Amino acid sequence: MRKKIVAGNWKMNCTITETQHLLEALKNNDSSQREASLIVAPTFTNLQYASTALKDTDIAVAAQNMHHQDKGAFTGEVSADMLQSIEVCTVILGHSERRAYFAEDDELLAQKVSTAIDKQMNVIFCFGESLQERKEQRHFEVVASQLQKALFQLTPDQWQHVILAYEPIWAIGTGETATPQQAQQMHAFIRQTIATHYNEDLADQVSILYGGSVKPANAKEIFAQPDVDGGLIGGASLNAESFLSIANAF
Ligand code: PEP
Repeated sequence: MRKKIVAGNWKMNCTITETQHLLEALKNNDSSQREASLIVAPTFTNLQYASTALKDTDIAVAAQNMHHQDKGAFTGEVSADMLQSIEVCTVILGHSERRAYFAEDDELLAQKVSTAIDKQMNVIFCFGESLQERKEQRHFEVVASQLQKALFQLTPDQWQHVILAYEPIWAIGTGETATPQQAQQMHAFIRQTIATHYNEDLADQVSILYGGSVKPANAKEIFAQPDVDGGLIGGASLNAESFLSIANAF
C-alpha cells in the first residue's frame, strides 16, 4: 500500500557506540504526530543491535545490501536468510554507490530483488540517472530501462514488497538537489511507466521516495509534490535532529 516513508541510509558510518546514541535519540522522539513511517539502514555490524533496540517501536531496520544466493563461498557477503534471522526484513538494493563501486548492474539487481522478494523481504530499490545522462536528455530513457531490467520480472502481487527510491546520481551527497518540479516530473513518469507495464492501480499503490541531498530546509517542498511519497536520506540521516525534522516535514 502507498505509504509515506522516510528512510535513512547510514552507509559506512557509525560505530556501535555512535549507532546506540543515534537510535536512542530516534526512539525518544514522540512519534504520535508523525505521518511518515521511518526506516534506518545501519551498517551490517550494527544491524542486530538496531533490530533489537527498535523491536517495539514503529521504526523499521533495513540492510544496505544483500547477496542473491542463499549461502556458499561468497566471502564478505550476507544472505536474505541471515538478515531475516536477526529480524531484518527490508533491504536497500541498487544504490548508485553499489552500482558504481561494486559493479552492480541491473541484471544482477534483478536477481537480488527476486531473491529478496521470494524470501518475503521488502526492497527499497534505488535507481536514477547520471549528470551526463541528464545533460543528454536521456534521463527518462535510463530510468525506464532500470525499472524494466531490474523489476519488471516481478508479478503484480510481488510489488506490494517494493518501495522505489528515485535518486539522481548528480544529487547524491553533492548538496545539489533536484528541484521539486524535477522530482515530481520524474516520479510521475515512473508511475506512468509502471502503469503501462502493469496497471494504474498498482502504479498508484507504490511508494516512490526521492533521494539526493534532502535536508530539513528543502524536505517540505519536495514532499509536497503529489507523486513524492517520502525520501531516502543519506548525510542528513546521521544527525537525529535533522533526520526527525525531515521525517516531520509532511
Ligand atoms: C543516498 O545516498 O541515498 C543519499 C540520498 O545521500 P544524500 O542524502 O547524502 O545525498
